[in-house]
Amino acid sequence: MKSVDVMQSVAKEVSTCTHCVLHHSRKFAVPGEGPADASIMFIGEGPGFYENEQGRPFVGPSGKFLDELLAGIQLKRSEVFIGNVVKCRPPSNRDPLPEELSACSEYLERQISAINPKVIVTLGRYSMAHFLPNAKISEIHGRAMNVRGRLIVAMYHPAAALHQKSLKSTIEDDFSRLPEMINKAMRSQPAVQPESTQAEIPVEPAPEKKEPKQLSLF
Ligand code: URA
Ligand code: SF4
Repeated sequence: MKSVDVMQSVAKEVSTCTHCVLHHSRKFAVPGEGPADASIMFIGEGPGFYENEQGRPFVGPSGKFLDELLAGIQLKRSEVFIGNVVKCRPPSNRDPLPEELSACSEYLERQISAINPKVIVTLGRYSMAHFLPNAKISEIHGRAMNVRGRLIVAMYHPAAALHQKSLKSTIEDDFSRLPEMINKAMRSQPAVQPESTQAEIPVEPAPEKKEPKQLSLF
């Protein structure tokens, strides 16, 4: 199936999905949006109030801040894919539950395989945990990690900066380093290399976490 067809199929399936309880409270599922061949994917947590009303990702206050962060590195929203780990809004914006995350992850996996992006930026800890279940956001934010042959950069959630002013400059700094990471990834081999391993490989190994499996990527 062509990637655009996979994306359409996922969007159609999530609109009527009943695999977890979140379907009860949704108005519109939010499959995510962006080119089916985007080089970069941003993955947030789940739809909030405005996203549930419109069926589109990041259209509320966090979306406005995300737009600013993208503009700051000369990226247009239309050039990147923006999605979420859960496609339906958790009631009152509560955190998604483990069973909801696992029920919804097949959709995200299909989207990632179809798009085959060079870089995935996770926004917030639930999105990070999809790729790096044991990582701490405070330790790895803004660093490129190789997970199963794919480059993952974990960032704080834009909403975190809106609630905690001290994080705003952290997120801005992390975003400012993205273009260089994207350029390096674009110059390297295809996003997924068949021989790749499960090892999590920091581009710049953290001094506190040097395990034998970790290598310098670039
Ligand atoms: N927060 C998210 O994590 N995702 C959205 O789509 C909007 C807000
Ligand atoms: Fe289905 Fe995901 Fe919505 Fe749950 S959150 S009902 S798994 S689309």
